[in-house]
Parts: sequence; C-alpha cells; structure tokens
Amino acid sequence: MACFPRVSSLDRLHRWGLQVPLTCVLCSNGEESHDHLFFQCSFSGSIWVSLASRLGNNPPLGLLSISQWIPLLSMQPRSFSQAVAKLLLQVSVHHLWRERNARIFNMVTSSSSDIKARIDRTMWDRLLSFPARGSIATPSLLEFYFGCFADSL
Ligand SMILES: [Zn+2]
Repeated sequence: MACFPRVSSLDRLHRWGLQVPLTCVLCSNGEESHDHLFFQCSFSGSIWVSLASRLGNNPPLGLLSISQWIPLLSMQPRSFSQAVAKLLLQVSVHHLWRERNARIFNMVTSSSSDIKARIDRTMWDRLLSFPARGSIATPSLLEFYFGCFADSL
C-alpha cells in the first residue's frame, strides 16, 4: 500500500475542523473518504471493474478486498497477472486522484472513458519499461494486459 498517495480526503479535512463540502466530486453521490474514492464510488468503481476484469473475474471494490483478490490471481495459468494487477491498482489510484484534484482545484472534468484511456496509456508505458526477466517477457505482459484492446490504442 506504499504506492498510495497521502490522501487528504475530504472526510479527514472535515475532522480537522475545516468547513468543506463532504460530497464526492467524482460521483456527486456519496461522502468522500479514502474507502469511498478507492473504489466504492460508482464512478471510480466502474473504471476499476472495467479495467481489472481483464485480469480476473469479479474484481472487488474495496482496497482491503482488492488486496486479498490480487494474490488469488497467481492461481491463474499466467502467474504474472499479480504484478500487472498491482501496477493497474497503483496507476488507477494515481489517475483517479488526479481527476479528483482537477475537479476540485481546476474545475476541469474528464469522462470515465478519458480516464480509462489515460490509465491504459500509462499501463502501456510502464509495461514497456518492465525488465524482461525469466519467463516474464515484456511483450507477454503487454499482450496479457491489453489483449485484443491493443489495436484500439
Ligand atoms: Zn464518489
């Protein structure tokens, strides 16, 4: 969990006594908290599920559940799915946190498809830079994550 940004989510600011609206800026339909943002929020949850479903069935929505789900991926035939899932989680948190900040501080809103495209572009760059080690060759990681989606990039 070291990859997570130090999240000053709105509920924490509120506990510190700052008068800030508590409503999540991603879905406008829930109180913002760490657990809500990642990924119980309908907006961030739908992005996570649509991307993580490439790696395994029924990806869960809470960080604790996700941390229990990722090790189970190693039981699948391609054992490097765990490494790709950890990277996807890190990249998704990064881009959703940026989107949340852009909406609060810059009044700029992106669609879920734009954010998914940004996550995929970052995944592409990061997977390309993965060192080829043993049977975990970079082309296999790219092929594994993107599969038939590679043509649409
Ligand atoms: Zn939300």
